[in-house]
Amino acid sequence: MALAGNPNAGKTTLFNQLTGARQHVGNYPGITVDHKEGFFHHKNQKITLTDLPGTYSMTAYSAEELVTRDYLVNERPQVVINIVDASNLERNLYLTCQLLELGVPLVIALNMMDVAKDRGIEIKAEVLEKLLQVPVVPIIARSGFGREELLDACIRLTTKEQQWNPRDISYGEDLDTTLTSLVAKIEETALLRDCYPARYTAIKYLENDEQILEKGQQADPDTARILEEIVAGTSAHTQKTFDVYPEALIADHRYGYIKSILRQGVITHTFDTDRLYTSDKIDKVLTNRLVGPAIMLLILFGVYQFTFSWSELPVIWLENVFGWLGNQVDNRLPDGLLKSMIISGVIDGVGGVLGFVPLIMFMFFSIAILEDSGYLARVAFMMDRVFRIFGLHGSSVMPFIVSGGIAGGCAVPGVMATRTLRSPKERMATLLTVPFMNCGAKLPVLALLIGAFFSDNKARYMFLFTMLAWVVALVAAKILRSTVLRGAPTPFVMELPPYRFPTLRGLLIHTWERTYQYIKKAGTVILGISILLWALMTFPGLPDGKTAFFEQQREALMATATTAVAAEIQATDGELSEQAAILSQQIAQINNAENEARLQNSIAGKFGSSLEPLTRLAGFEWRTNIALIGGFAAKEVIVSTLGTAYSMGETNDGESESLGKRLKNDNAWNRVVAVAALVFIMFYAPCFVTVVCIAKESSWKWAFFSITFNTVFAFIMAVVIYQVGMFFNLG
Ligand code: GDP
Ligand code: MG
Repeated sequence: MALAGNPNAGKTTLFNQLTGARQHVGNYPGITVDHKEGFFHHKNQKITLTDLPGTYSMTAYSAEELVTRDYLVNERPQVVINIVDASNLERNLYLTCQLLELGVPLVIALNMMDVAKDRGIEIKAEVLEKLLQVPVVPIIARSGFGREELLDACIRLTTKEQQWNPRDISYGEDLDTTLTSLVAKIEETALLRDCYPARYTAIKYLENDEQILEKGQQADPDTARILEEIVAGTSAHTQKTFDVYPEALIADHRYGYIKSILRQGVITHTFDTDRLYTSDKIDKVLTNRLVGPAIMLLILFGVYQFTFSWSELPVIWLENVFGWLGNQVDNRLPDGLLKSMIISGVIDGVGGVLGFVPLIMFMFFSIAILEDSGYLARVAFMMDRVFRIFGLHGSSVMPFIVSGGIAGGCAVPGVMATRTLRSPKERMATLLTVPFMNCGAKLPVLALLIGAFFSDNKARYMFLFTMLAWVVALVAAKILRSTVLRGAPTPFVMELPPYRFPTLRGLLIHTWERTYQYIKKAGTVILGISILLWALMTFPGLPDGKTAFFEQQREALMATATTAVAAEIQATDGELSEQAAILSQQIAQINNAENEARLQNSIAGKFGSSLEPLTRLAGFEWRTNIALIGGFAAKEVIVSTLGTAYSMGETNDGESESLGKRLKNDNAWNRVVAVAALVFIMFYAPCFVTVVCIAKESSWKWAFFSITFNTVFAFIMAVVIYQVGMFFNLG
């Protein structure tokens, strides 16, 4: 008999338990892998037992795996005891699968039953036995429990007429078809038939197993070449269709096979033991089918409540700081391009983005708590059930969350995280829909518009818009999966890490890392784009003749003033008399009109205006258009550009209003426009970096698809919202 199993499954313990001192250790010739053999008596039979090296698999990757496989096919033991760790059944059964495929006479020793029980795992050996169709005997190798039953089962197996009996596992249509033709060829030529079952050899060819390939070459080069050609064709096909090698598909299907067996009532979790893991107890509530999702929504809502209420004051302070800074520059620098660039391009632009740092920080802090405690993995686990309905995979959940599923992520790592998906279609569907999530860059836009137009219920609206992002992303995924990306789902395995108490240090580090990324981006990329957009919004300046026109108007006004009043206005500081105040107000209006004329005549302004006939359908005026175009570069730019666009058209009367207030007071904006704009911003083309990333992960074709599909889709939504909203007069 031979003992096979994963490392640490208890092989040596059982070996010692059975053979006692009657054993000897040697090395396999030429390699440093232990060869341990012993003997003992059971029911008047002398049994020789070999302890094989521990392996997780039987490929040709390591000496241990080769030794195990060679021993089994060359020595042909009468019984192979597969020792399996019951507390880790899923992983251990992977080797079992391969032993079944090889067809060795198998008895499964379900070891560590005590450990499993302590963990609240109850395993029904008889159910497993029925499903696997091999004897399964529960044992505790350390105490000797189950020893007699195990040996009886082994003896029973030897008394039957023993034939090797290979098990067929299906590897999906593509591979099964190939396997059939490989098997036909192998049986026809009897290639390696003295050692391996035909299907086993065929599988090894598909797995690209070096040892078997070499043996095949030596035994029958012609047949081997034909087999290799068939395999090369299939491999190219799976790479094209699934983006994976056949080996990966084979591994997937083996796990799928195990999963389907375990799901049929083999494992039940009992929770009445005292030494039950706290994590399992918590999970029983938090991932409960009914209570779990409700708690999840509550927690998310709590996150928004916390973020918005705690960041409210700091955001106002920062706004004031930037406002003050703007005034300082305004008072100290002479009028002109430099001043305009510093105020409108740098301070209003970057300040608009940096102003949200406290909010971002509190959001990241909340997410760090969820992540470090292990709760985020539970969210993924629960969402898996929902995801399947929409044709996505459990592994799609993490990319969604990373991209901003809880608001505040980034689609770039989200797109990269889709690499864990093995099915190309599920991966594409995930890749194309993760940019719908509310990433950290959309957060300031959301905060700005929600803060300005729905200030009484900020957390609730934030929550609503997050839900909306999910709903839209999932529906879009479903549409993609039932049209351009139609295909079958793949199985999903996910481990839940135990709950941990997050450390304050860890939380602060995580919060800071992400906040710093945000600040860095505002100081570099956003600053650059902001200045560029400022230039586009400033040049070529006023149309010919207009400069003189405004200058004349101002002069005419000043001419009406007395010397004293004129001096008052020139002085800029100090209280103004009533007359001077009126006059300065009138001058401000002229300045305002001048600025607006300049903006409208600028490159960006013209472009924004030329789009206006179309965007009016969604309620966007030309200034908003400028910001939305800027948003293609990076979504943060929307806020900074709105800041610039609406500060340029504003009076320079020294009083700095927050952007939110300006929008609220602007005629072109109201609640309906705000919602239409929000929806458009949430769902239109991903930012430039994300598009490049999508192209790199798939192709430029898909990247362009993503730009056009998203933009058209977002625009239609915005138009519907605006038209319906205005029809019911909700603005
Ligand atoms: P091998 O790598 O498969 O040879 O595993 P070992 O026989 O070295 O066992 C690994 C560890 O598991 C050792 O610390 C054993 O004492 C322990 N162990 C083995 N069987 C049992 C069991 O049934 N119950 C418990 N609690 N521990 C066991
Ligand atoms: Mg050992």
